[in-house]
Amino acid sequence: MEMGMVRLNEIRTNEVAIAPPQAEDAALVFIGRISTPWTSRLETPRQGRPDGPVCTIEIFEPWVAALKGVERFERLEVLYWLHHSRRDLVLQSPASNGEVHGTFSIRSPVRPNPIGTSIVVLEKIEGNRLFVRGLDCLDGTPLIDLKPDRALFKPIAPPQQGDFETGQVHMCKKIEG
Ligand code: SAM
Repeated sequence: MEMGMVRLNEIRTNEVAIAPPQAEDAALVFIGRISTPWTSRLETPRQGRPDGPVCTIEIFEPWVAALKGVERFERLEVLYWLHHSRRDLVLQSPASNGEVHGTFSIRSPVRPNPIGTSIVVLEKIEGNRLFVRGLDCLDGTPLIDLKPDRALFKPIAPPQQGDFETGQVHMCKKIEG
């Protein structure tokens, strides 16, 4: 298995970096911290797996009360901030072979806003700590949000008008290759 192709901060052949516009403050709040076995991007899985190692998500105050009801879901969607990523590439070469792909066509951690998402299996909750499998981030990665896996979630609020609106379907043509 090729282990060398993890980006730290280098630019690879044919990749394109831009000068990013000044960041506007989205007023994100980190609501917790993720603990994983991985301290190097060279070791971290590219995508988490449901049978991967158990990782811990610690929720900070004052958000702990927001965990009420989370235990009912077998799977959760976790959003986290890939805080060591560069943010300026528009074309990237994941295989480092000169072939480049648009940032929005891949799930690389290098993105204008380096948000990672994973569906995790919830093993248990103890106080403000969730034990989950399925993550792929470095130890210490900041947590942005937690939600039930959408496949398991039925809205609790009553339906509203937009829920029944349909539109003409224009099939989006997939380009082969
Ligand atoms: N599952 C998420 C997704 O699809 O949105 C993230 C996928 S991303 C390919 C996972 C990789 O991001 C890891 O293999 C590691 O190289 C890198 N990574 C993990 N944690 C990071 C962090 N805190 N800062 C920067 N890069 C990170």
